[in-house]
Order: sequence, then structure tokens, then C-alpha cells
Amino acid sequence: MKRTQSILLLSLLIFVTQLPASTSIAATPKTGAKCSKMKQVQVVNGLRYTCIKSAGGLVWSKGVTFRTATSTPTPTSICEIPPTSVKISKPKIASLPKRVKSPYRVAIVPLLFKDTASDAIAKFPTGLDIQRQILDKDSFVQSWLTDQSFGSFVLVGKVFDAVSINQNFLYPNGETFKNDKDPIDIKISESYQGYDLLMFVPMNDKRLGGANAFTNAHKCNLRINGNLVPATQQMLWMPIRIGSDEFGNSQNSFLDQEETYTRATEKEFEEKTRKTSYTYFQSTFLHELIHTLGYGAHANSRTADGKVYTESLPSSEKIEKEYGNLFDVMGSGEYMLGLSSYIKYVLGWSDRFGNVAFGETKTFTLSHNESKQGLIGIRMVNSDYQEALSPDEKLIFWGGGYWIEVLPKNSKYSSRLDFVEANSEGIVIHQTEAISAWLLDASPNPIRKYNWGTAPDTSDVVLREGQSFNDGTISITNVKVQSTGQVTFTVSKQK
Ligand SMILES: [Zn+2]
Repeated sequence: MKRTQSILLLSLLIFVTQLPASTSIAATPKTGAKCSKMKQVQVVNGLRYTCIKSAGGLVWSKGVTFRTATSTPTPTSICEIPPTSVKISKPKIASLPKRVKSPYRVAIVPLLFKDTASDAIAKFPTGLDIQRQILDKDSFVQSWLTDQSFGSFVLVGKVFDAVSINQNFLYPNGETFKNDKDPIDIKISESYQGYDLLMFVPMNDKRLGGANAFTNAHKCNLRINGNLVPATQQMLWMPIRIGSDEFGNSQNSFLDQEETYTRATEKEFEEKTRKTSYTYFQSTFLHELIHTLGYGAHANSRTADGKVYTESLPSSEKIEKEYGNLFDVMGSGEYMLGLSSYIKYVLGWSDRFGNVAFGETKTFTLSHNESKQGLIGIRMVNSDYQEALSPDEKLIFWGGGYWIEVLPKNSKYSSRLDFVEANSEGIVIHQTEAISAWLLDASPNPIRKYNWGTAPDTSDVVLREGQSFNDGTISITNVKVQSTGQVTFTVSKQK
């Protein structure tokens, strides 16, 4: 879920325009083109194509996004989130945000709709199934939260009884249920008071609506047991879809695991896919939970065709991609379900950060962003950017400037592919504006060209030993990878 509608619209346009537009060789997925192996899955630009049966034989399905997995790549918003409604502590410039509340209590309410086929209901997960994926101590979600927060964040909660809604999930025009269009009164048998997060899990056998985080402020008329939900209540909409597509291929967003290529090269389509150790439901939940906790943006990328990214590049050479960070749960998370130390800073999950102010030159040694010891990030806030903000904006937006960190090697949340490991051999640089982060290409390589078009290359962004970075605002030199895996470098802020 985005912080502003304009960013949301922009990202929709990006999703739509990324659909491959020309016919090409059979190995390259394109909707409707012939494919050779039933159920084979390929991913292009964050869109997943599945080889499916159709009247004419085997063809590639429509590309679906990882996060929403619908038959059309259109995330739905059931309520508009005004920026100020997201609970964020009040940071002073150059001070640390307050740690988010912990333990954080979630009430999970499965929802059933009128138009679900009765034989489909038996396939939906039980409360115990949902509890196992989200709340059980040994679940992927719990160990991820413990590791990424360095033990400072604990998620607890309860799965309530499923609630039957006397409305359809799917409208005649194909749209999925949206509460802001069709006010709803959910009858819950027990109180959700005392829970920090109220999470609805609509279950459906035909389509999957987009997951998002929201509050009940303003346009949303959600009622529970006849009463309006308080405007400050944090909520999640986490749909599960279990059913078959129009060709009879079964889909299960609760149990299906994400699949990615073995590596991102020109030959990637000829190589095998790999499965992750987590489900779509789990990775989507973690993404939306981080939004709920106060990070309202995504992990994005800024690259250029073979050039170091700077603001002065001609616009024709800039490639900006929302969700473009392939290593972060707030990006596409295709190869590593990590969490940038910048977001850990925003959430208050660590205080091990260095700081560089205007005119300063400093040398640092950084540990990777999952390390329990040492500095894990360097902040460089643009003071002029901060001063331009109104007092209200200062409560929400901070950190406009740069962020430096080291990606982990051998992380249990990483694909362990060679190019992923290689990106830990140096430092990665993010540009930060408002609260979103943009991964910069510090050691540029050309964009990847395919039969169907081009894609920005973030598979190699790290600034390695012997390389330097200077975009006119900051400069980084003397990069040295230590035997411990820590990275030493000198940074100065010129503007
Ligand atoms: Zn999001």
C-alpha cells in the first residue's frame, strides 16, 4: 500500500507497461505464447507466468504480480490511507524514531463471502492453519521478525472464528470486494479491543484481491457489530485465494511458495526455477505488517544503462522502479527476503547507526544489516530537504538524503545465489526521500536486453574494493572488505 495516491497510480502504470509487448521465442514468457512444460513458472519483471493448458495446447498464462497474484495486476485499495493516519512516532531531526510497540497484538478474522462455491470452503485454511503460518513460534514469520528486529519485536495474537459475510466477493464487472464502495458490518463474536492490529483474511475461490494495510479514518465505513471501527485502528486486508484458473490449473495463495529463477542473466529463462522456504501468504503478510508498523513506502531502485546513477543523468537514462530492490521484503524480495537497516532505523529496531553531516568526512566499518554486532547503517540526512518541510510533514517524513549499508552473506533469508552473495562484497547505497528508499546502482552494468524488451539490472549494485562513488552530493572512497566480512570505507558529504 502506498502513502499517496499518485505513487499508487504511478506504480499501477509501471505494472501495466511492464507486460511483455511483443511475440518472441517460446522460452520467453508472453501471455498466450506457446510453452513446452505444463505448470512451468517463469518470472519476468516481477510478473509470474505459468505454463497452462488451453484449447490450442500449452500457453503462458497472464503475468501476475507476486504480491497480489490476481488475474489482472491491479492492487485494490479497500480504503484510502491518509498519510497522517499511519502510526509513526515523532522523530526530531537526527534523533532516533521510537521503537514500535512490542509485544504487538494481532486479531485475525477469516471472512467468507456469499458467492464462494460450497465445495470450495472445505479447501480454505482453518484457524489453526493460519495460526501455524503466522503465530507459531517456529514459523517462518516469527523467526524472520525475531532476526530482523534483533529480538526487539514480538508478534502475538489470535485467530478468531471465521465470519460469513452476506455479500459477494466478486462483483459482476469482475472487481473484487471493496469496503469503501460497499460499506460492511462484520459480526465478530468476540472483542477486538486491546489488539493493535485487526487483520481480515477474505477467502475466495475465484479471484484474489490485493493485500493492503489501512486504518478506518476518513472514507472507510467499516463497522463491527454495528459500530464504526475507531479511526486509529490499524487493519490489514490479507486475502487468500484457493481455486482453479480458467484452464483448470489449481492455485493456492496460502500454500504455494514463491518461485524465482536460479539467477538473473540473459540465459535465465533456460535455467531452473527455485522454490522459497516460505509461502506467498507469509511474505505478503510480512510486507504488509511492516507498512502497518510505520514504513509506508517500498524498497525501490534507481539504475541507469551502464552509468552510475546521479540526479544529473538525462532522464532518458534513468530507470526508476518501485519494488525494484530484489533483496528486500519491501521491494520485490525476489532473491532475498531481507530488511534494509534503513527500515530497521525507521521502525526503531536498532540504534547501531553512524551519521555523516554536511562538510564531514568520516571512515566507518559496517557489519551487514542482519548482524547482531557493530554498526549496520550510515545516515546522511539532507538538512535543506528537512527544512523545506512543514511541521506536519516533519512528523511523517524524515531521512531525505542517503543511507549506506552492507547486505548479508549466508543469510537464511537469502537465495544464496552467486550474484546475491556477490552483492555483500562491498557497500550498497540508497537514496532516501520522504520515507521511501531507492537502491542506487553504484557499480553500473548495462540494462538487460530481452526479446520482449529491457529490464533494469539490480543484480549487481554493490560498490566493491577499488571502486569509488561520487554523485556531487556524497563521495565514497577506500572501500575495503575485511576478513570478517565487515566493510570499511570513507564517506564525505559535500552538499
Ligand atoms: Zn506495499
